[in-house]
Amino acid sequence: MTRSTALIHHTYLPPAEFDAPQVGVFKASTVIFPNVAAMRTREWMDKSAYTYGLHGTPTTFTLEERLATLEGGTHCILTPSGLAAIAHVNFALLKTGDEVLIPDNAYAPNKSLAEGELAQFGITHQVYDALDVNDLAARITPRTRLVWLEAAGSVTMEFPDLVALVQLCKARGVLCALDNTWGAGLAFNAFDLTPGQGALGVDLTIHALTKYPSGGGDVLMGSIVTRSDELARVLKLSHMRLGTGVGANDAEFVLRSLPSMPLRYKAQDMAARTLAAWCASQPAFSQVLHPALSSSPGHAHWQQLCVTPHVPEGQAAGIFSVVMEARFPAHAVDAFCDSLQLFKIGYSWGGPMSLVMPYNMASSRVRAASHLQGGRVVRFCIGLEHVSDLQNDIMRALKVASL
Ligand SMILES: *Cc1c(COP(=O)(O)O)cnc(C)c1O
Repeated sequence: MTRSTALIHHTYLPPAEFDAPQVGVFKASTVIFPNVAAMRTREWMDKSAYTYGLHGTPTTFTLEERLATLEGGTHCILTPSGLAAIAHVNFALLKTGDEVLIPDNAYAPNKSLAEGELAQFGITHQVYDALDVNDLAARITPRTRLVWLEAAGSVTMEFPDLVALVQLCKARGVLCALDNTWGAGLAFNAFDLTPGQGALGVDLTIHALTKYPSGGGDVLMGSIVTRSDELARVLKLSHMRLGTGVGANDAEFVLRSLPSMPLRYKAQDMAARTLAAWCASQPAFSQVLHPALSSSPGHAHWQQLCVTPHVPEGQAAGIFSVVMEARFPAHAVDAFCDSLQLFKIGYSWGGPMSLVMPYNMASSRVRAASHLQGGRVVRFCIGLEHVSDLQNDIMRALKVASL
């Protein structure tokens, strides 16, 4: 045997008696079968065997199982980003002639995908008012195949009546998918929305693991979780055909960060609430959008789902927005964002560094929302800095921008 061949066929056995609590990082495109019969009979869909890197490794199977546990589901599929998880659900479940309903305050690329590729495939969409159950009810037709839900809504943080929306979807026989990035599997249980009062839950969730599960701001990944064996089968077949796998190193990052997620979520929640309450006292801001504030749209629905006897203060993501006084022109709001030093201008959230982003809601929403009062919206994503430093940063930037 030549040395080059011998290098490739060098016998490797995983170390025996190496029982570390951390999950091994297994990297493979190929999985070797001991014989042809094994190749023909192995089944990856139920995780009973390994067949190909894309179909799962011990590392990705473990991460999937932990994420399903986190969110209260039984099946999980990993995708290369949160948006890829949204796209995967749409591509797996929708066909030409179907219609998908998306809340007006959804993560904006979800709507863009519907306007772009879904429209190209002959799949129509409608945008509904997440705060109006009757509006959703009026839009469901025999062509409606899927309803997207988001709690709280992106940027404007309205908390919908999730129980009523899910009940409506069930009554009308329409699948409902929740973008669970905000709740992260911690703030409420998407698959058991009315504990003790009978089973009511969404059909599936997607989660941008890029946010809290990663926690480092250094990974893009998404997941899809469901309790339905049938949906899991359909989604897994699409996963095999679409080929959207994740890298072992990225899976390792998320596995490593998951145990600390509840602590980070809590810390970022508390800091965000402290800042949101302080912002509510600042005259430059006409409204603070954070579902734990009683003045924020959907507060009662947030209380219903996220406040429990075990967590009387409730749970929320460390993210909120302010509506600037309508008299401030766009350039003044931009100057305020530019004047912040600790809050960096950037998308995403859930990492250690606080972020800020100005939004012009008029251009991204179908409907005008009265609670936005015509002012520009600025979103703050709270990192792990000390809250007093963040408050001082906002205070100073307000002065510098003369707001
Ligand atoms: C960030 C985000 C996504 C998309 O996640 P990526 O991993 O950045 O693609 C989806 N939904 C919500 C609510 C998000 O905040």
